[in-house]
Amino acid sequence: MEDNDLVGRAGSPEQLLLEFITAAVHQGASAVHVEPSGEQRLEEVRVRLRREGVLVHHRTLPREMLPGLLSAVKRMAALDETEHRLPQDGRSLITVALPATAGAGERVVELRISVVPVLWGEQFVVRWIDASPRTRPLADLGLDGVSLLRLDARLKNPSGLVLVSGPSGSGKTTTLYSMLGSLDHEGRKICTAEEPVEHALRGITQVPCRPELGLTLAAATRSLLRQDPDVLLVGQTQDYETAELALKIALGGRLVLSSVHANDAAAVFGRFIDLGLEPALVVDGVTAIVAQRLVRKVCLECRVLEDLADEDRVHLAITTALLRSIGMPELGEAPLRVPRPVGCPACGGSGYRGRTGLFEVLAVSPAIRRVIMNGGSCAELTGVARAEGMITLRQAGVRQALQGVTTLTECLRVTAPDQG
Ligand SMILES: [Zn+2]
Repeated sequence: MEDNDLVGRAGSPEQLLLEFITAAVHQGASAVHVEPSGEQRLEEVRVRLRREGVLVHHRTLPREMLPGLLSAVKRMAALDETEHRLPQDGRSLITVALPATAGAGERVVELRISVVPVLWGEQFVVRWIDASPRTRPLADLGLDGVSLLRLDARLKNPSGLVLVSGPSGSGKTTTLYSMLGSLDHEGRKICTAEEPVEHALRGITQVPCRPELGLTLAAATRSLLRQDPDVLLVGQTQDYETAELALKIALGGRLVLSSVHANDAAAVFGRFIDLGLEPALVVDGVTAIVAQRLVRKVCLECRVLEDLADEDRVHLAITTALLRSIGMPELGEAPLRVPRPVGCPACGGSGYRGRTGLFEVLAVSPAIRRVIMNGGSCAELTGVARAEGMITLRQAGVRQALQGVTTLTECLRVTAPDQG
């Protein structure tokens, strides 16, 4: 109950709300979730923060605090305070003072606020876009050496469509920005059409799309073609019009980068063909697909390394062939060890600190083209790609666990078993 005592001294609901958001920003979190909970009636209020992609407990409050917090968050987003039965969304800008460890100063944070009615009242989520520097070198994102070389070769082509796929929050924008960063900025004109523009990039023409005014991704991309570009980033290709346009520009001799929602690299072809695109256009235009996930890195201050249990090895199909394919010592050559998270002050007790990417890079080859033109399944495509040396998301996760970077639990949380 010591949590509650602290709250008693915190002052108004407005101050408390700002305290949660400030604490969350300081901890590098990306959202605050405030939810009523209880079995038969509202018993308490749970406050959680999304840190490194996972919700972590922040505070438990007495139920009396909820109405005040709801009014405060609604006022903050200029929503109707008297509406309790319908969902409401809004935005707000706040300035957060940064601690000395983050270089002091201030940070303006654009909040997105969502309130929904639930069984025991209402709950809300406050989210914001992480403003940490986004243009990290491509080599620092977690790609293994082979995948990095393959991707780099496709980015050096003057034309072709390179796609990044994954669920939302899997780091696609970071990867796209890193790809742009790896290109020659002096000799080439680089333009982007984005919705929204997440970060300003030096030396690059960025157009924020405004679909409500008719400036859709496709419309902005068409206008940018008249700006004499060499490289175009099209925020996403989720509909027929934008995808067809991106493919045609790529076939017309320009390098195009984009993102798409799909589970793995092979699934992107099926998605494009389901949109109604001609398979021939897809296989001629797409030169590489990157599928990705984010995993939490184990805290190096407190992790312990343990021998890999036999049942885990069997369950994850960690064979000599797999170890060879991911550049690890073969079975029997060296003990296989994986980290276990413990928790210490440096990682706030979670056992994890920071995140890294798992990547699967499918480079389109003549054999891949044949499978697609013959209407092959996803499993068949993955099989051919693996035979040509593609490292799958699951393999990339196992590799990072065996290198002591992340845990097998994290790898299993974000990747599906391999097929094909
Ligand atoms: Zn730690």
